[in-house]
Amino acid sequence: MTTTDTMDTAATVAQSIRCIEAGAELVRITAPSKNEAENLLHIKNQIRAAGYDTPLIADIHFTPNAAEIASRIVEKVRVNPGNYIDKKKFDFIDYTDEAYAAEVIRIRERFTPLVRICKEYGTAMRIGTNHGSLSDRIMSRYGDTPIGMVESAMEFSRIARDESYHQVVLSMKSSNPLVMVQAYRLLVQKMDEEFGECYPLHLGVTEAGDGTDGRIKSAIGIGTLLEDGIGDTIRVSLTEDPEFEIPVCKDIVNRYSGRSNHRLIAEFQDSKITLPYNPFSYKRRETAGIQNIGAHSVPVVVADYSKENKLDYKSLEPIGYTYNEATDKWRLTDAAADFVYTGNNIFDFALPGTLQVICDYDTWQHVADKTKYYPLIQQREYAAAILALDQLHFVAVDANNVMDGVADKIKFYPRAALIVHTTNGHAMASIRRFLVQLLGSNIKCPVILQIESHEHTIDEQLIHFSTDAGGLLLDGFGDGIWLVNSNNDLDNSLVSGRTHLEVTNNAQFLNNTAFYILQATRTRISKTEYISCPSCGRTLFDLQETTAKIRAATHHLKGVKIAIMGCIVNGPGEMADADFGYVGSGPGKITLYKGKEVMKRNVPSEIAVDELIGLLKENEAWVEV
Ligand code: SF4
Repeated sequence: MTTTDTMDTAATVAQSIRCIEAGAELVRITAPSKNEAENLLHIKNQIRAAGYDTPLIADIHFTPNAAEIASRIVEKVRVNPGNYIDKKKFDFIDYTDEAYAAEVIRIRERFTPLVRICKEYGTAMRIGTNHGSLSDRIMSRYGDTPIGMVESAMEFSRIARDESYHQVVLSMKSSNPLVMVQAYRLLVQKMDEEFGECYPLHLGVTEAGDGTDGRIKSAIGIGTLLEDGIGDTIRVSLTEDPEFEIPVCKDIVNRYSGRSNHRLIAEFQDSKITLPYNPFSYKRRETAGIQNIGAHSVPVVVADYSKENKLDYKSLEPIGYTYNEATDKWRLTDAAADFVYTGNNIFDFALPGTLQVICDYDTWQHVADKTKYYPLIQQREYAAAILALDQLHFVAVDANNVMDGVADKIKFYPRAALIVHTTNGHAMASIRRFLVQLLGSNIKCPVILQIESHEHTIDEQLIHFSTDAGGLLLDGFGDGIWLVNSNNDLDNSLVSGRTHLEVTNNAQFLNNTAFYILQATRTRISKTEYISCPSCGRTLFDLQETTAKIRAATHHLKGVKIAIMGCIVNGPGEMADADFGYVGSGPGKITLYKGKEVMKRNVPSEIAVDELIGLLKENEAWVEV
């Protein structure tokens, strides 16, 4: 989606072409009013004259007249059912059934003309619901829930169907991947039930932010649905120039090309095992708690040091532990790993108290400190392994090939935890099937998800880890995460800085990625959460620069959610569940929010970041570094 002013024809054409050249197959351009809608004709003509036939989409909020103009010009219009007709005032209205039905009739009268124009001109339409901008009417009846999102889109879809207009695409975006995934799944179910067919779906995580955060959140939301076989078009929304969104889209899509020849994931033979969890609402798989793993503990992070040549104090820095020789103390970051796997090595110095070691079973048998070191037992050696009943141990299981006897022994040992990987090319689904089987069989041992990537670039690996681990975590599976990079060459590109990621070696990349995935799935919060819009023609300040400035000042506020939104028209609605909001309200003017409440209006932008810090302090959300 372009971020230029739509009235600036040359800039919008140039940016559209950059996106197309980068691989975009559709380009969306904002049309906030009649003028921009009319200017789409000039933009389209120039793009076509330059030899590009990529379909264009007009992005509409609040302005039916702009939609009606644009739908005669471009190939597709996107309307937001939350604000196409309704104005958002954050009012709660207790509708009677009659009053609610009257509102739906009013929507039909206002929306039908657009449907008829689209039908006449052969223009497609996306009914694009956003979690953050549901109408007051939907919010009053359903709350800001996935069901509310679905109903919002269904109201508009029913009107389109009644006009026999079917060139419809739907979307259910949210900045929270969990809400987004549940909403899409529910929508598919609802369309299937009510229409007996499903319209194509456009997938995206909205206000995903920038850098690693934005990529991971997008990959988790979009990838989880693609793993389910849901989704027809995608957009990755980053607070970066739009052409940088396209390679991320490609990395996500490429994960699903050439997938068809993976080994069959067997259906359950036992008819008693139906899906033993609800894919429309989150519930973590119930597990036994063993030390800090499982039950109510946050998912643990395992760092893999089995290939490290040297295990010294310094080698633990990338996974969050810095040793101070003068004080003989360790300093931990909020993203410090919980376990380190060392293969057949052991450390020759005292480790920090919070770091525990997993080593191979053979090695572990000779380790003196069995309260710090725990064995990793391969499933083929498990039957013969000799263990005390109260000994925490890890069993490595291939979800694609579980050996006989493993389940019985796990049931017998109350302190067994599984490290689950798979040799199936469709890894997420293979591991999910195994976990569903555990759930259905009422086996409660904790499970650490071991996700291995052979991808050629660090960006591809980031997407791979996010889709596979993220998708499982969103379904409530996983008491820990262990990421493995099997491509040794990648370390060189990290060291030489040939990546945009803020990491310098493999261990740091994997550790940070694990914590980012846990944060994005909201299963373990270790840092500040940012919800920043991708910007568009409405944006009133430099979003990328401002986001970087706010991030630099507030990155240490673990758990605080800060929204950075480009305009007052959509920003307050779209910032969903942010604790604080920084919203452009006019040229050089920022309005600051606490939740949905305006706290400081029209603050000059030069002092707005300081004012935001002041607001955080007044509300006890600030800590000194
Ligand atoms: S919130 Fe951001 S992306 Fe959304 S309309 Fe406003 S400026 Fe554009």
